[in-house]
Amino acid sequence: MDLSDSISQSIERIGVLTPLRSDCGRLCGAACCQGNEAGQGMLVYPGELLVRSFPQSWRRERVTLPGYGSAPLICCDGPCEREERPLACRVFPLAPRLRPDGSFGVRMNPRGRPVCPLCHKPVSSLDPAFARAVEDVFSILSSHPEGKRFLTALSRMSDVYDNPFSRD
Ligand code: SF4
Ligand code: SF4
Repeated sequence: MDLSDSISQSIERIGVLTPLRSDCGRLCGAACCQGNEAGQGMLVYPGELLVRSFPQSWRRERVTLPGYGSAPLICCDGPCEREERPLACRVFPLAPRLRPDGSFGVRMNPRGRPVCPLCHKPVSSLDPAFARAVEDVFSILSSHPEGKRFLTALSRMSDVYDNPFSRD
């Protein structure tokens, strides 16, 4: 599978699923969609720019993702139309967790804790259909070496966020 197919399949797999069966934005006033100030934003998944375009008003940057290298970052001016959401927003508040066998499970994204009340709860508090879909997305993306490298770096970033003393 090439990168663009993996992105298209991932978006299709998530479809209309959201973290909760109800609108989680009512818990927090849609805290994650209030626009991204300088230094914040969503990492763009490898291949995403091959199949997606984002509104011209959204700021584009490049950042260094440790263990991966330079990666595009997009900063929305929120809130957006649902079909405009980057993949990073579609999988939020979940993040990949690299398993010892090289596959990827899901975890609550520790970097979301400052804004997202769901990130303080276990994965089991989410709609199981959403959690399964995101795990499938990580499996789809990891079928391409570039996707796997990216997910591995994201997993490592969450590990370090949870335990800053775990740096190699
Ligand atoms: S911050 Fe969390 S709870 Fe609030 S809208 Fe975003 S994902 Fe839902
Ligand atoms: S791109 Fe859309 S879904 Fe993502 S943070 Fe911005 S407003 Fe929210």
